Amino acid sequence: MSSPSFQYSRASDVSDAFIQGSRAGTAFVAGGTDLLQLWKAGAMAPEGVVDISRLPLGLVEYVDGQLSLGALARLSDVAAHPDVARDHPVIAEAILASASGQIRNMATVGGNLLQRTRCPYFRSQGLACNKRLPGSGCGALSGENRQAALFGASTSCVATHASDLAVALMALDAEVEVFGAAGRRRLPLRDLYRLPAETPERETDLAAGELITGIHVANASRFAARHTYLKVRDRASFEFAVVSVAAVLRVENGAIVEARLSAGGVAPMPWRLARSEAALVGRAPAAEAFAAAGDLAIEDARPLAHNGFKIELLRNAVIRALQTAGGRP
Ligand code: SF4
Repeated sequence: MSSPSFQYSRASDVSDAFIQGSRAGTAFVAGGTDLLQLWKAGAMAPEGVVDISRLPLGLVEYVDGQLSLGALARLSDVAAHPDVARDHPVIAEAILASASGQIRNMATVGGNLLQRTRCPYFRSQGLACNKRLPGSGCGALSGENRQAALFGASTSCVATHASDLAVALMALDAEVEVFGAAGRRRLPLRDLYRLPAETPERETDLAAGELITGIHVANASRFAARHTYLKVRDRASFEFAVVSVAAVLRVENGAIVEARLSAGGVAPMPWRLARSEAALVGRAPAAEAFAAAGDLAIEDARPLAHNGFKIELLRNAVIRALQTAGGRP
């Protein structure tokens, strides 16, 4: 097998990265933990690679309660940062539940948010996959779809998003900072991702060459006491989520006054469980309220032939996550 031919360049600054990354067929590389796997699997074959790993975007800062993560901060550094562990522990938990220690030492937070799906059809050359080869069909729709989405899918694509970190950030209403033609802009994390509809090859709203430069989380220390990230996977070692739930609660005078829940492994993007959240507010953090939230979480689930088990799994994961978060002293 011949080695792939491609052009390598290094970005001198963010603006240069945008200009170089705007060329058709170009991919950014930082930690490289996902890109190189995809390349080896034949799921991607960029003509050019722009190395952004030396841009000064690796800081983790905590100012006036706002957490700012440079897009190139390593997962392991973020999880170990004392301010993150103290005031945003659900982020640290989600990171520590993801990948292996070696990968966490290389992978960046920006790259983690943009990692591609683990759908086996996407990562296997020669199989039908609209995301890899638009118009070729979706092999998973009527084939092996045990990992497929319960929410937000289309007949063009039923893949799920694989990031644990994104699930925790979604629960905390994080914003993403990107750099593009108009300079820097911020957008809510939920607006970064697109549902597949008829164009599953477009997974985000980033324009050509736009790159994530940072992630911002408003003061969420009020949730630090009651939080959890629960990840259900097929084996306890390095594995992606079958279902995961990030839960944070604020309880005052024996009642829940604020609840945030998001789920992973069940949709093409981290999936907020808004109805479950609303049903929790005003109630005691106890079994009855948690069961109601679990029931609401699965209301709109649309299973395929092999992933129906995820419905009960999600319901139970929501309940378990709330028990853990709500039961903290
Ligand atoms: Fe491809 Fe999406 Fe279908 Fe998987 S679910 S085969 S990624 S189109």
